[in-house]
Amino acid sequence: MYKAPRGTSDILPQEQGYWSYITQKAIDIACLYGYQRLDTPTFENAGLFVRSIGEETDIVEKEMYSFQDRSKDRLTLRPEGTAPVCRAYIEHGMHSLPQPVRLYYFADIFRYERPQAGRYRQHHQFGVEALGDSDPALDAEVIDMAWQLYANLGLHNLSLYLNSIGCHSCRPGYLESLTANYSKRQDSLCPDCRRRLRLNPLRLLDCKKPSCIPLTEKAPKSIDYLCQECADNLESLQELLKLLNLPYLIEHRLVRGLDYYTRTVFEIAPEGELVAQATIGAGGRYDNLIEQLGGKPTPAVGFATGIERIVLNLKKQKVAVPAISPPFVFLAYLGPKAKYEAIKLSALLRKSGFSVTLTYGDRSLKAQLKQANTAGIRHALIIGEDEVNNRTIVLRNMDKGEQETIQLDKAVEKLRQAIGGSTRH
Ligand code: ATP
Ligand code: MG
Repeated sequence: MYKAPRGTSDILPQEQGYWSYITQKAIDIACLYGYQRLDTPTFENAGLFVRSIGEETDIVEKEMYSFQDRSKDRLTLRPEGTAPVCRAYIEHGMHSLPQPVRLYYFADIFRYERPQAGRYRQHHQFGVEALGDSDPALDAEVIDMAWQLYANLGLHNLSLYLNSIGCHSCRPGYLESLTANYSKRQDSLCPDCRRRLRLNPLRLLDCKKPSCIPLTEKAPKSIDYLCQECADNLESLQELLKLLNLPYLIEHRLVRGLDYYTRTVFEIAPEGELVAQATIGAGGRYDNLIEQLGGKPTPAVGFATGIERIVLNLKKQKVAVPAISPPFVFLAYLGPKAKYEAIKLSALLRKSGFSVTLTYGDRSLKAQLKQANTAGIRHALIIGEDEVNNRTIVLRNMDKGEQETIQLDKAVEKLRQAIGGSTRH
């Protein structure tokens, strides 16, 4: 028997209510802030991700789904959403549009990770990117969007963690001090951190191994090493967050798993749970990425949120989401002549905007009505040989169990009355 590949899952009909709820709220937020949708391909040239995410990161080192296609092109299933957006920004000359260019996306994301609750090999993200402006007001806008999205979804008890990891001019000084601090403790480091110490010291702070966590707590803080410009930026951002009434916590261990970030980095997680798998959404500024990918120097900021993690938290917090409505009418028939009439009528009803279902295979009336009931359908139209001959049909209210015989050509009108105008519920 085949099963869905490890780390992937089917989103079953009964889960879809969560997904459409989240998708709609995300689109609403994007519209409220004036962001436009961009869809990029599921796969890109592998080089795009290696160049942007950074060679010494978990994603590039061990998590990418890369393959060679039949023309020997090296491709990668998208492991994150920002680099493709930047690629599209450059490719379509968006720097000549009014800046910042504000974009949002929905994307499935592929990472070869160890599957566990909240961590999959294929997951889905909603993300936004604002490109072409270095003003910290844009950072505040993006953080505000993330925060308002969760609030509109009905999630509560979340914390916003903030940090600044500096820029090309001040980060080297910080990394030197971080490296010196960790070098004294080489023996107590996990094997991954020993590598990080040599190749990507910033990522030392991101280690989730219990043995390394005490070291991260004692490590020097990037905010103590910021150049004047980065310090001013962080200061302005904090003022704006206060202005917008967004409570935040400075978390000096926050560095993010991708190399392209500069200055602002942030994460939103359930209160007191800044641990692996808890983060619902995260983002930051990436002022050098577009240039690094061959575009003009273009500062930018963005954030992405995992939809599966939102679903998990909606369930944990028992947030009720609107159910997806079942079809409005169930058409039951008895006998071959009635079947033809039922199919004809179903086409007419759908043209008039009614959502209709029927079951084929000539089952008993009892079986058909049972199906309507199980599906939660509130109105049934029942037609048999007699009704066909008399040009009538039975309209049954499934909730009340009441029914009446009506003229076949009055079915649309009668159903309209039954719902008072709206056709789907
Ligand atoms: P984590 O620290 O949990 O590994 P990350 O820093 O790798 O997350 P990002 O690359 O910032 O995550 O992705 C943005 C969001 O996507 C995360 O905050 C999380 O909600 C979600 N996410 C990331 N990886 C996964 C995954 N493997 N399965 C499900 N959701 C994920
Ligand atoms: Mg990760």
